[in-house]
Amino acid sequence: MTKTVGILGAGQLARMLAQAGIPLGLEFLFLDPAKDACAAEFGEHICADWDDETALKELGQRADVVTFDFENVPESSASLIESLCPVYPPPRALFKSQDRLREKTMMQELGIPVAPFHPVASRPELVAAVETIGLPCVLKTRRFGYDGKGQAVLRFQEDMERAWQVLGDHELICEAFVSFEVECSIIAARGKDGQTIFWPLTRNLHRQGVLAISMAPSFDRQLQARAEDLIQRLLDHLDYTGVMALELFLKDGELLANEFAPRVHNSGHWSIDAACTSQFENHLRAICGLPLGDTGNDLHAVMFNLLGEMPRCADQQAEDQTGPAGVHWHDYHKTARAGRKIGHVTVTAESQAGLKARAAQLASQLGVAAELNLETVMQGRRGA
Ligand code: AMP
Repeated sequence: MTKTVGILGAGQLARMLAQAGIPLGLEFLFLDPAKDACAAEFGEHICADWDDETALKELGQRADVVTFDFENVPESSASLIESLCPVYPPPRALFKSQDRLREKTMMQELGIPVAPFHPVASRPELVAAVETIGLPCVLKTRRFGYDGKGQAVLRFQEDMERAWQVLGDHELICEAFVSFEVECSIIAARGKDGQTIFWPLTRNLHRQGVLAISMAPSFDRQLQARAEDLIQRLLDHLDYTGVMALELFLKDGELLANEFAPRVHNSGHWSIDAACTSQFENHLRAICGLPLGDTGNDLHAVMFNLLGEMPRCADQQAEDQTGPAGVHWHDYHKTARAGRKIGHVTVTAESQAGLKARAAQLASQLGVAAELNLETVMQGRRGA
């Protein structure tokens, strides 16, 4: 039985993995260059750079299995650890996801629909790509982009120069702009034996490129089956072990893939409070070779990301955990900083009506009701 899980990265995802794993009898060893990494409260923290060979060897020698909470770990670091102990998800999944061009090309080869795209390595290539794809389009850095960073929407010819000034030093990809109706994500866990289980397709709302709200369940069976088929192709192709998330756009009844994350995902945080088994527990179960837990959810859930600092109402409502609709606060114990993900709150209820009332009340306390138009979003739910 696996005892010590090594995690590259000790942010909130690693913290929630450890919170799920401690009751399973697991111990945690984190490697992260940040001195104040928030997962460190739940295990031992090796404070070192991602390419520090001595630290990587220590992690590989002391852990029974190593995983990630961060996908931009250098290829050479993951390979070094792999020579010492099993690493899940497989590093090749990590490398595909680190480069949007490799990622999109793989998806296309697997028959997963994606928006038309073109690599861009020079100014003339940008002009050619925009000519082929048309406007509007999105110019993105191939690597190290997250939460909408390193990307620009081009709506008019004049936008090209401005975007090139900002992004032109990087390898780029130009994608068609998808005027989607809704963004959603499917999260799955695949065991070492290939058994795969799925959580309900989750509806996501972003604000300035950052996830703001997730809701589940939100879609009908047909769309659920389609999303499951798409992520299954990736999982099987990569002979994957662990949790994966696939971010999707819904447009005219069709799903288009945006990107996949080879790790637990922000849009699956609701599963802690509303699913039989959370994405964090099942990730650990998968990588430790334990049977996967039921992903079913009898509860309806809405998760709000908390950015910058914990809101005052978190204290007022901390005890309000019971009743037909629960409010579940998660404080990552991170230092407050503008725009930083410092926690989340999940509202759960047995009925959609109960959820609606509680979520609307909370959204207004959080000051996001008007901005995010929660009412409209929730009216758009099509039931599970
Ligand atoms: P990403 O970094 O690719 O996950 O993008 C962050 C967010 O930008 C997405 O969740 C979408 O809201 C938006 N976005 C990214 N790519 C596109 C696209 N091709 N068309 C329209 N919106 C996009």
